[in-house]
Amino acid sequence: MKADIERKAKDEAKAEAEAEKARARPHEDSTAEAACRSDLKTLGVTFEEAPVVNDGKACGIDRPVLLKALPGGVKVEPEATVRCDTARQLARWLDGSVKPSLDAAMPGETIAALSQASAYVCKNRNGAEEGKISEHAFGNALDIAGFTLKSGKTITIRPADKEPTLEGAFQRAITEAACLYFTTVLDPGSDAAHQNHLHLDVKERRGGYRYCW
Ligand SMILES: [Zn+2]
Repeated sequence: MKADIERKAKDEAKAEAEAEKARARPHEDSTAEAACRSDLKTLGVTFEEAPVVNDGKACGIDRPVLLKALPGGVKVEPEATVRCDTARQLARWLDGSVKPSLDAAMPGETIAALSQASAYVCKNRNGAEEGKISEHAFGNALDIAGFTLKSGKTITIRPADKEPTLEGAFQRAITEAACLYFTTVLDPGSDAAHQNHLHLDVKERRGGYRYCW
């Protein structure tokens, strides 16, 4: 009897958690989506419309884009399925911070490609069995592993809080600036799950609150 009650309570808690996740999934507004696509074109982003992603009531993207390249022909490797807003903020961050920071740190170098480690994926935060669903499950997030330069040199995201080099300063500068474009920024200084990438997402929080490392 007691076990039955406990099981019932557990099932109810699980159903409630699922309902909460379903509510959290952004449902797109057509006008905003059209404006976003127009912004992508103005910014010089190369993308295609992607089919609706629907992995059940919680995970999914209503109006996904397949992001192929960022302003200036910077390839996204591999191509990434995300919400349009995620692509737009990535393009703005690249133009507003990553390119000028690279110019200062390594004059003469140009970014050829951005390596992403994770775009859309239906999972909980940090891959946990239970708990809150990851922003990756809504197409709101992108994990940045590094950059490839036209010279062939690669820049890899790594623990760089105290790295006394220009490359360390470059990583710190673009990480700090990412909070101007994204509402969540997690870097190798955040926790053990982010040692080799920057997690950037456009999660909407009440009051415009941001969570940056
Ligand atoms: Zn992530």
